[in-house]
Amino acid sequence: MVAKGDLLYAWAKDSAIQEKGETGGVITAMLKYMLESKMVDAVYAMKKGVDIYDAEPALITDPKDVIQTAGSLHCGTLLVPKQLTKCVLNAAPDMKIGVVVKGCDAMAMYEMAKRNQINLDNIVMIGVNCGGTVKPTMARKMIKEKFGVDPDTVVKEEIDKGQFIIQTADGKHKGISIDELEEQGYGRRGNCRRCKTKVPRQADLACGNWGVIGDKAGKATFVEVCSEKGAMALNKAIAAGAIESQPAPDKGKEIRGKVEGAMHKLADKWREKDFNSYGNGTERLQAIMKDTSRCIRCYACVENCPICYCTECSTKKPYFVPSGAIPPGFMFHLIRFTHVADSCINCGQCEELCPAEIDNAKIMHMVHKDVEAMFGYVPGVDMKLQVLGFAEEPEERKRLASTGTDQIFKIFKE
Ligand code: FAD
Ligand code: SF4
Ligand code: SF4
Ligand code: SF4
Ligand code: SF4
Repeated sequence: MVAKGDLLYAWAKDSAIQEKGETGGVITAMLKYMLESKMVDAVYAMKKGVDIYDAEPALITDPKDVIQTAGSLHCGTLLVPKQLTKCVLNAAPDMKIGVVVKGCDAMAMYEMAKRNQINLDNIVMIGVNCGGTVKPTMARKMIKEKFGVDPDTVVKEEIDKGQFIIQTADGKHKGISIDELEEQGYGRRGNCRRCKTKVPRQADLACGNWGVIGDKAGKATFVEVCSEKGAMALNKAIAAGAIESQPAPDKGKEIRGKVEGAMHKLADKWREKDFNSYGNGTERLQAIMKDTSRCIRCYACVENCPICYCTECSTKKPYFVPSGAIPPGFMFHLIRFTHVADSCINCGQCEELCPAEIDNAKIMHMVHKDVEAMFGYVPGVDMKLQVLGFAEEPEERKRLASTGTDQIFKIFKE
């Protein structure tokens, strides 16, 4: 029997899943088992869309279709919980779902749960360790300019041993060190470089390839059992013969720990570099005001932020931000930044999807780290209430939960 806290190697028993899975297919086998056993009503995972740069979210209810989602897509930058809520849970709030999550997705799950956007009791979170994702347009540019290869001829990409590796239709492989690519302005998204949630222990299971050595390398997944729910689901899948496992060897655990530590150090380096580029005090404020002055008020940052959830957004109130003004003025950003500052999880959506290429995530991550140092609130790790949550009176909290409006105190008339 496996228990919370166990570290093991695991792989799918089904040979087709093993073959198609990234490292032995334990995630795919787990999702399929959860559907077959009716532990969940559906699974939500990514599958390859038109090409390897296109990670398409899929809601699957037929166990035989789960295999379509096997494999890792490093250009899949979508924030899973926000999409899941918009496209599925808003219409079917009681659906029980098995969801595959990266670190940022797992953190968003917690922050959205605190805001009554997701009921974690209905979710089984299967986490993937995550060294980072590459924006699809960047991947194409990088493959063309740095690898000298036509991006349309690439059939598989992977990140292994610090390299971004591509495989072309003729079976040839080519890899370049991620450090080298990033020094030259290519590579992972900025928020991924700064991210330290490399092993998503907020999920029920955290699965990855770090630390898998010997004859199991590439054929098994290193699984950390992070919750009682994860242990229960895994035990059932093993008992049903869907998954095989063995304890992870000490050497494998040591290697995994070292790689995670090295990734944290690298993230610290990027944080220092990125945050220092904004300076301090007035200089920082002026830099932020200059950057945000390009805004075209498309609301993509609001729409895609896991912390933004209000049915009536303050940035749309004409007494705060004049209607029709483009650019909307700094008050627009000040409102959003202030509302999100305590809970930003550095998921990168507000930056990646900004048509004006404003470094929203970099700004917000930087400001959040200052707020975190001041109040000690760390978002995305547990269900502890956010700093701003404490500002609300119980009565106001009740109204907020039932109406979704952020107008905590009715000081302005409509
Ligand atoms: P499979 O059975 O192949 O299942 C993989 C699951 O991941 C599928 O359900 C699929 O839908 C889902 N998935 C694929 N791409 C995405 C995506 N972009 N976003 C959300 N879900 C997705 N492991 C490490 O140890 N170190 C790393 O640095 C690392 N980086 C990773 C980066 C990314 C973007 C991803 C997706 C995975 C990463 N992994 C990393 C995990 C590793 O690649 C395997 O997913 C893991 O070992 C499980 O293998 P498996 O055969 O059991 O998974
Ligand atoms: Fe992975 Fe972290 Fe980037 Fe999310 S923010 S895709 S968890 S590296
Ligand atoms: Fe993600 Fe941006 Fe929201 Fe932070 S502010 S949680 S980076 S979308
Ligand atoms: Fe986000 Fe604030 Fe708008 Fe709510 S009111 S959606 S927190 S910017
Ligand atoms: Fe402005 Fe960019 Fe936000 Fe659109 S996504 S409203 S352009 S900051």
